This record gives sequence, C-alpha cells and structure tokens, in this order.
Amino acid sequence: MKLFDVYPLNPIEIARGEGSLVWDSKGQEYLDLYGGHAVISIGHTHPHYVQRLTDQLNKIGFYSNSIEIPLQSQLAALLGQVSGKDDYQLFLCNSGAEANENALKLASFYNERKKIIAFKGAFHGRTSLAVSCTDNPRIVAPVNKTENIIFLPHNDEAALEKAFAESGDEICAVIIEGIQGVGGIRVASESFLQKIRSLCDQYNAVYIADSVQCGYGRSGKFYSHDFSGVEADVYTMAKGMGNGFPVAGISIAPKFKPWHGMLGTTFGGNHLACAAALAVLEIIQQDKLIENAARVGAYLMSELRGFEKIRDIRGRGLMIGIDLPEELSHVKKDLLFKHHIFTGESKPNVLRLLPALNLTKEHADRFLEALKKVL
Ligand code: PMP
Repeated sequence: MKLFDVYPLNPIEIARGEGSLVWDSKGQEYLDLYGGHAVISIGHTHPHYVQRLTDQLNKIGFYSNSIEIPLQSQLAALLGQVSGKDDYQLFLCNSGAEANENALKLASFYNERKKIIAFKGAFHGRTSLAVSCTDNPRIVAPVNKTENIIFLPHNDEAALEKAFAESGDEICAVIIEGIQGVGGIRVASESFLQKIRSLCDQYNAVYIADSVQCGYGRSGKFYSHDFSGVEADVYTMAKGMGNGFPVAGISIAPKFKPWHGMLGTTFGGNHLACAAALAVLEIIQQDKLIENAARVGAYLMSELRGFEKIRDIRGRGLMIGIDLPEELSHVKKDLLFKHHIFTGESKPNVLRLLPALNLTKEHADRFLEALKKVL
C-alpha cells in the first residue's frame, strides 16, 4: 500500500529529540520552534513525561470508559487548578476537531438553536461542524456546507452587533480562537472578546473559546481569552495537552448539565492519555512554564521589533507570527536548510513560531541571530 499524500513532506527524517532540540537520522541537530504545530508544550522526551507514560503502560494502557478511571478525575482537578476553572466540567476526547465538534453540539443541545457565528481566517478542524466553521473552502466538502454558519470579519464589533441584532434569538454559539493560528497569528482584541461575552449573555448564546492552538499556557496565560478578563462558556483544548500523545478536552461551565451519553467516545480519557496529560500539567506547574512562555515570548517579540525587513510582528507569549514581505518567501527554507531551525508558516508569508513553553533565552537568541543573517 502507498501512503495517502496528506501533506507535502519534508525530506528530513527526525530520529530523536530532547527539549527544544531534535536530531535527524544522520545526526544533524535542529532547533525546533515549530513543536509539531504547537503540540510540543513541555519539550521532547521530558524525563517526567517519559517515566509517567512508561509506568502507566506497564500497569494498564487502556480498558474502557465503562469503568471508573481515577486518573480522569485527577486530571480534571489539576486542570481546574492550573486553568483557574475549578468549577468547570471536563469531557475528554482525542483531537481538536473532536473537541470543537462536541462543544458545538453541546451548545446546540443547550439552547436548541442552529446558527453559529465564526470568523474570517478561523480554523477549527476538519470534521463535520468544525470544518463548516473553518474559513477555508478547499477543505469544506459539499456535505459540510451549511447556511447555519455566519462568517463575520475578525475583530469587527459593529458586524458582530449587527448579526446579533438581526438574528440574535437564533444564534446558538460564537466560536473563536483567542489568537488565530492557521489564519496567521491574529490576536482577538480584548474589547472584541468582551463584546462577544456580553452579546452571548444578552441573547443566551454560547461562547466557545477554541483554545486548541492558543491555549494550554502558550500565550503566557492558560487560555489566551484570559487577557480580556472574560470567561467563556466552553474552552476546547488539544495539541499541547498531551505533548504528542493524542488527548483533547472541553472544559464546560457549570450551567451546562450534559446528560449521560450526550457526549462520548471510545478512546477519550484512556489511561495512557490521562497519564500524558497529567505529566504535562505537572511539568507546566512545577517548572512555571506559563511564566516562561510569557517572559521568553516577550523578549523574542521585542527583539524582533528591531528588525528592519519585517512587516508586522503579532502574537502573545510563545505564539508569534512574523509577517514578511513577499520577496522573503525563502526565509523559512533558509532557516531550515542553512541554519537548522524548524519554524511554521501561514499563508501567504507569515513565519509561525510555536516552540515548547520551556524554550530558553539562549535558543531564542540562536533563532534571532539566524534570522538576522537570512534577512
Ligand atoms: N482548532 C485550532 C485553533 C487548530 O489550530 C486546530 C489544528 N490546527 C484544530 C482546531 C484542529 O485540531 P486537530 O488537528 O487536533 O483536529
């Protein structure tokens, strides 16, 4: 069988990793500022993470969701503590798309409505409703096209007010990334998020904070929505939650009372997934990684602002977009092949930095020097 051609593949074979560094099969070292697309939160092969997963696998890796798994409650308790949402309820699943899918479904069960507001530039996943709310016609199949989704311009309070004024009583939910990732690192303004909160309150719509990419401490706060001081009704999370082990979740406000069987999945919250997610949170807490993301991210952004050829620098913490002029489309390749640094990108010409939250200042400097040379 031939592999289905999902993404254009990079010719480099990564053989091992440690912290923010990875090595290819020939022994060449690379600095990883991409983190497998915001997945690597605590660095590669962190000893505590490896130990916890190995210990768990030696005990039991999987049974079924039909028995009580104390690890799930431990995870919910620790997540409540670290995210500052003790009173929320945790539902565990396996991917960002699945988390958003369930959040949207929960919202529709809650107010029995169908219309969803999403934003230009948004990415929420590739499954049914999640892809319907994603602003990329290339990945929306005819079956996913629905008139229930209202796409509004990002950060446009007037358009939001108008949409609610026109059909507020039909609006089920607003789904928004605190910082658009795939869309090119675009930060939702604090006043925009506050406006969403107040309109959702006024019209009994559900505020869904897609925190799959911008969450889990990456922005320098646990949820990037926290900068605005608002509380979402539902937070979705995945990526950094398991540091590479597939685990995702939705954190649900107390006012929702999902009934037995409303949400469910075979693999969600299995023993190994919980062990991975617990290890990640323990490391985030013990090593103060959210503070590190804020500090090293602020340092990187302030240094980058001194670079001449950059058009715009956007982001928060260790979620940084470097908007380059068109003629610099070679930058990502040069960083990789000449300086051995992995970065991400967004179309048309934005370099995306999504490194592990324990990125050191020394590694940040290594990137800054390389970028200076490439530019
Ligand atoms: N939401 C956001 C903001 C994302 O960036 C992504 C993945 N890029 C998803 C949802 C979907 O996550 P997954 O690929 O785990 O389904």
